Amino acid sequence: MRFTIYNKMLAPVFSYHEGLPIAHLSELPQNPTEPQYSYSKQLQQHMVGKELLISEIPFPFETILEHYYHGYIQLNYGVFRKHNKLYCNRCGNDSPSLFASFACARCGAANCFYCRNCIMMGRVSECTPLFSWSGPNDEEMERVDFTWDGKLSKGQAAASDRVVQAIKENNQLLVWAVCGAGKTEVLFKGLEYGLRNQKRICLATPRTDVVLELAPRLKKVFPVTTISALYGGSEEKHQRASLYISTTHQLLRFKEAFDIIIIDEVDAFPYSIDKSLQFAVSKSRKQTSSLIYLTATPSKQLKRDVMQKKLEAVKIPGRFHGHPLPVPRFTWCGNWQKQLKKDTLPAVILTWIKKQLESKKQAFLFVPSVSIIEQVVTICRKFDSRIEGVYAEDPARKEKVQRFRNGEFPIIVTSTILERGVTIPNSDVAVLGSEDDIFTESALVQISGRVGRSAAYPTGDIIFFHYGKTKAMVEAKKHIQQMNDIVRKMNNSVKN
Ligand SMILES: [Zn+2]
Ligand SMILES: [Zn+2]
Repeated sequence: MRFTIYNKMLAPVFSYHEGLPIAHLSELPQNPTEPQYSYSKQLQQHMVGKELLISEIPFPFETILEHYYHGYIQLNYGVFRKHNKLYCNRCGNDSPSLFASFACARCGAANCFYCRNCIMMGRVSECTPLFSWSGPNDEEMERVDFTWDGKLSKGQAAASDRVVQAIKENNQLLVWAVCGAGKTEVLFKGLEYGLRNQKRICLATPRTDVVLELAPRLKKVFPVTTISALYGGSEEKHQRASLYISTTHQLLRFKEAFDIIIIDEVDAFPYSIDKSLQFAVSKSRKQTSSLIYLTATPSKQLKRDVMQKKLEAVKIPGRFHGHPLPVPRFTWCGNWQKQLKKDTLPAVILTWIKKQLESKKQAFLFVPSVSIIEQVVTICRKFDSRIEGVYAEDPARKEKVQRFRNGEFPIIVTSTILERGVTIPNSDVAVLGSEDDIFTESALVQISGRVGRSAAYPTGDIIFFHYGKTKAMVEAKKHIQQMNDIVRKMNNSVKN
């Protein structure tokens, strides 16, 4: 499709000989909203707070166009040139290597440029307009039932109050909660306050498995609230909801939609997509809104913002069950790669495997690269043939993790993918080659956080087998000890 300007308004043309791809028009005229016009409520419900492709709006094109002429819908550029540089309006991408061109049947251009960065959400090119609602936004009040009757730990309760306060004041807040602090419960009061005050809320996380885990939990706590789970294959994509639980990619379909955005595990993003994330968040939140970050391992940038008082923070240094975090031990294991070439592992590690098998506890064995998993598994199986390995692209990943959860095998050899999310009540952890660069401070803190999470088994063993101590190892241990120190001091001051 191309557009031309007719009667001072955009008009679509369906010939390659007239008009231009939308990106080449120097302005996109917009009529003021006509109050008398009887607009479509369904279209409004579908579009409010969103920025969509035409293919994402299941209404006749004439209806959409008519709403545009009456000032209820706005058209925006998709991919366009700014100072001779390509820019994507949907995801904020401006990196030249993330654009490509194709011979486009829709606009007839031999080189129609499109954005590769957000292609998984449908192609946005120079001839693709983005549509948003510019009419009134009638909010309907939804009844709220809050059915949670659990009890918060002291640390959780303090953080919960701060979350409510940040929401009331439209502030930003970092909730720095140790692994196993029970951070989801910390949100309940704030979510309740938001819902009762007609605020639209988004809980965003980088990972689909977290969306799938959180959605049913929150549906139980707020049984009559419309809650929508958004991820790649989601069925609920176009359902209007009061509370969205979304992967960060799906946020790109929203525009000025949310009064409250909560970002879970903000540090789990690879550094390179930080910019896309920031763009998605600032695009999807309303000008007056609150922003809450949740994490056990804040990035350097977040910590710096806290130190410079640009960002408020609240710490939950202790776990919900009140026991201290298990502290990792370092064990030198020599040149384990050389041993691996001889199809064996250093003696200290073989001893650890034997001891684990005797203890009847389950254990994670983290390794630095996917390429050695199979070899390590083969060595381990000499001791117990049930031992399994798992990595991100493993086709049997879900099933293996489930079998490990069921207690069907004693040791899982894994890449860093299991550093978050998977909780095994009575387990130990070892890291092979903890000196590798992949084991950053935050990865090691998360890995250590696998242990002792349940109230029934609050302790456990963590060993970093290394061939040379690294700064990341030392920092990770210090991080954990400092959190324990804070709890100890808090407890002492209560006693005295
Ligand atoms: Zn894009
Ligand atoms: Zn095109």
